[in-house]
Amino acid sequence: MRKRFIAGATCPKCQAQDTLALWQENNIDVVECVRCGHQMREADKQAQKQVRTNEQVIGIFHPE
Ligand SMILES: [Zn+2]
Repeated sequence: MRKRFIAGATCPKCQAQDTLALWQENNIDVVECVRCGHQMREADKQAQKQVRTNEQVIGIFHPE
C-alpha cells in the first residue's frame, strides 16, 4: 500500500512534525503518525484539517 508523508503536519497526539503518513483505505483517507501510531480517518475533523492544510507531499513511502 502506498503511503505519502504530509509535509509540515504535526501529530495531535505526540506533537512530532513530518511523521504523518497518508493513504487511502476503501476510498477513505487514513492518516497515521509513524512515530506513535496515532490514526485518524477522513471522517475525523482533525484529520481533515491536517490533510487540507498540509497537502504538500514530501515523499512516497513503500513498505516491503
Ligand atoms: Zn504521533
